Amino acid sequence: MLVVMHNVGFGDCFWLCNSEELLWVDCGSSAYPCHTFSMSDFSADLLNYSRRLFTKRTAIITHFHHGHISGFKHLAKNAGNSDSFERVFIPYLYFVNSSGKPLFLEMAVYAYTFFSKKSLSLKTASSILKHPSWLAEICNLSAVQCVSTGFTFNQAGNLFSVLWPDRCYSFDKFVEKVVQVLNSATEDLADFHEIKNAITDRFNRWFISISESEKDGAYLYELSEELSGLVRQLDELTVEWPNNVPLGKKDFGQLFTICNNSTSIVFHDSNRKILMNGDITTDIIDKFLSSRYEKHYKAIKVQHHGTKSHYSSLLPSASNLLISTGVHKNYGKIAVDYKYHPYRWGNRWCSSGGQHCQIRDRGYVCTNGSCFSCMPIVLRI
Ligand SMILES: [Zn+2]
Ligand SMILES: [Zn+2]
Ligand SMILES: [Zn+2]
Repeated sequence: MLVVMHNVGFGDCFWLCNSEELLWVDCGSSAYPCHTFSMSDFSADLLNYSRRLFTKRTAIITHFHHGHISGFKHLAKNAGNSDSFERVFIPYLYFVNSSGKPLFLEMAVYAYTFFSKKSLSLKTASSILKHPSWLAEICNLSAVQCVSTGFTFNQAGNLFSVLWPDRCYSFDKFVEKVVQVLNSATEDLADFHEIKNAITDRFNRWFISISESEKDGAYLYELSEELSGLVRQLDELTVEWPNNVPLGKKDFGQLFTICNNSTSIVFHDSNRKILMNGDITTDIIDKFLSSRYEKHYKAIKVQHHGTKSHYSSLLPSASNLLISTGVHKNYGKIAVDYKYHPYRWGNRWCSSGGQHCQIRDRGYVCTNGSCFSCMPIVLRI
């Protein structure tokens, strides 16, 4: 298998392939220090290139953050790309609490309603709530498959299996409390709740329908239209952030980011060659994934671009660590832990120019200087 880490700055764009088939994992960035061209041109060029090289192309969207999907969204805006992929895998997002409420999607509706157009939280919420309609521009909707733990698939001569997300995952009790308080603080807004309930109801149907192996394409397009219409209705409402919520709007945005990362698809192949971690969070690694991982892989795509906030000492060992970092003001340089994880002599590869992996007085995380190059990093494993 050939692994290509495209250089997109603070974001992910990976190709796992053989000579015929491609598994394209994420395509997006929130900063591209290397590139003089735009993400729009980059994704269009890459798609054309992939059409020439591969007979079969499957895409995985690990989760709906800008740094993982912005390239796919650019493809969706351009005409003629509706057959970009034969299959598109997305994570299961209909996580319910004990009373059957879909907490994560409710958070997305609140984020969409409360945040301003320019904020990252609004962008994320918009990508989530509108995903059926923009996915329809890069593939046939009956090609969209929702995946969760235990799902397996063949691509590029390998059998892959999904290790996360679990369908019965319960978010932190604090998340539940925040959503509950938001629900009661806004209960007088009958219009808003009617739209919110209709949105979560359609998503329930959407996730059931795209989990099935035989899909009703016409019904999926119908649902996607309905969802677009409902989200447009949200645009017309003005709802203020309520005072009596146990955290501020900014903190809610951060909580939403963490919850979104915790929905990341994590998967590996049956020959222990590669482990792809998306932006999965440390608590999920420590509690669930550490026992599902193999002990050693040839390569690991480390979670969340190598930041300290998502590092776990329970990450398995690997001959190659792939760190898709970039210069990002909010998260700092790569965690020094990766310099020593799991042993000093493993290779560390980091993408995107600049000196971001430099650790004061202690050299670099990647001893090969890969972060100074803007070229893609290619490994045969
Ligand atoms: Zn993320
Ligand atoms: Zn990310
Ligand atoms: Zn480096």
